[in-house]
Amino acid sequence: MSGTLATCPGCGKQPKHVERFGYGGTHWLECPPCGTRTPRFPTLNEAVEAWEKQETKQHQVAA
Ligand SMILES: [Zn+2]
Repeated sequence: MSGTLATCPGCGKQPKHVERFGYGGTHWLECPPCGTRTPRFPTLNEAVEAWEKQETKQHQVAA
């Protein structure tokens, strides 16, 4: 995990890591320009895996 994530399936930009504390910590990746984001996970690794598998949910326009 060093910043080389797959680009956004929606717009091709790099996602950003969002972290919230509380509930034991919550991580997800999201792409602010288009709203693509992964579900929330307890660890960043899980969020990255979901992103890499493109298990994102949002208004994604099918290619
Ligand atoms: Zn995007």
